[in-house]
Amino acid sequence: MPDLRSLPSVERLLQTQPASEMIAAYGRPLTLQAIRSVLDEVRARVSNGGEPTVRLSAHGEALPDREGLLESARLMLEEWTRPTLIPVVNASGVILHTNLGRAPLSAAALRAMQAVGHGYSNLEFDLGTGKRGSRLIHAEALLKWLTGAEAALVVNNNAAAVLLALSALASRRRVIIARSQLVEIGGGFRVPDVMKQSGAKLVEVGTTNRVHLSDYEEALSEPTALVLRAHRSNFKIIGFTEEPELKEITIVSHRAGVPVIDDLGSGSLLATERFGLGHEPTVQESLAAGVDLVCFSGDKLLGGPQAGIILGRADLVAKIKRHPLARAVRADKLCLAALTATLLHYLKDEAEREIPIWRMIAATPEQNKARAEGWAKELGQGEIVAGESTVGGGSLPGENLPTFLLSLAVKSPDKFLEKLRQQQPPIIARTENDRVLLDPRAVLPEQEGALLVGLKNVLGRKT
Ligand SMILES: *Cc1c(COP(=O)(O)O)cnc(C)c1O
Repeated sequence: MPDLRSLPSVERLLQTQPASEMIAAYGRPLTLQAIRSVLDEVRARVSNGGEPTVRLSAHGEALPDREGLLESARLMLEEWTRPTLIPVVNASGVILHTNLGRAPLSAAALRAMQAVGHGYSNLEFDLGTGKRGSRLIHAEALLKWLTGAEAALVVNNNAAAVLLALSALASRRRVIIARSQLVEIGGGFRVPDVMKQSGAKLVEVGTTNRVHLSDYEEALSEPTALVLRAHRSNFKIIGFTEEPELKEITIVSHRAGVPVIDDLGSGSLLATERFGLGHEPTVQESLAAGVDLVCFSGDKLLGGPQAGIILGRADLVAKIKRHPLARAVRADKLCLAALTATLLHYLKDEAEREIPIWRMIAATPEQNKARAEGWAKELGQGEIVAGESTVGGGSLPGENLPTFLLSLAVKSPDKFLEKLRQQQPPIIARTENDRVLLDPRAVLPEQEGALLVGLKNVLGRKT
């Protein structure tokens, strides 16, 4: 067994040049911890009769030399401090991919976050009076302007918006919802569970596939706090189905003196038909149908940061703002900065040009074809095939956008996908019929270089 007493001490190692560099880069406590860990590992291994995993000395000695120990410590520090939340290249063709962070932000939204995050801001400070102000005014004015709503409130996300609205307006009281809308959105958001959590009493009407206006009317004959409509964000019911128009629901509800709240999920401000897509309900439409409150996400078809937006009747919004949960789910300054900048794009009629997800949705198949062809040319391989992209993010279920894909024939597609995920930045693609498919639609133009480097790496390694 090698003599462990010949290992250098922690103090000795700390006095070396490589250690000074590590201290400068990672701080003294962490460097100390790494060096200790390396020495402990060598001791443990050697006492157990194993080989040290750290680099052995060049002279064939049984123990690692000083350089080997320091290099191991450096690798350890690199590993410990490597960020786990990192950018990826989204070549999956799903624009609002919830697992990939949904909407990328516009340049203006990023600048706004930078400006507000870098220092102090008037988040809750009224510059006119010099007194305390409200963080809510920043987005509220724009939301009101864009939608014509009387009032608006921004919270952490849409799940929080729905929970808050129900808690504030319907705790221990009846809330009517069509059975066909008791949906699960994914990531643990289930409408019946959220209703239960809020303390509301769930009153289901209709059947799985059909609900009639008379079902609502019958349920409304008993004292009721709210009628909830939830958008079936991620699936369609087809066949023998029926659902009254939103406008009809609001008329019978209002006749009974009961407000209607519409959980739109995605809540587009633009008409999706313009892009050859099916119809996604817009916020403006819901309000025009007489809905009292609308809830939707900031990072779905709005194309902004994670947020939940509640807008509609001023008295109801005021009541929601006063509920204790409103404080617990409030939006932070970075979110409000990015959201305000995103909303401004709509006000200035430049959403399609400035908001990344709308640019991606608006990209024509020919534009995507040209990009995929460019990739194939650069790689010297791959075929261009017609395919489909999806919007995702709980919007437009079953709706696809025609696109062109780079299709690669590789020996083991799953292995290839795995290697693409190991690139820096990781590349997310998909497979179909034993081919690897890469969709240009959601690949940011500035990521193309990195995408090609990653692809070349993996192709060069032979799969
Ligand atoms: C996505 C969605 C939610 C949840 O919104 P988050 O912003 O992800 O919290 C709630 N309701 C519907 C109908 C949705 O589509």
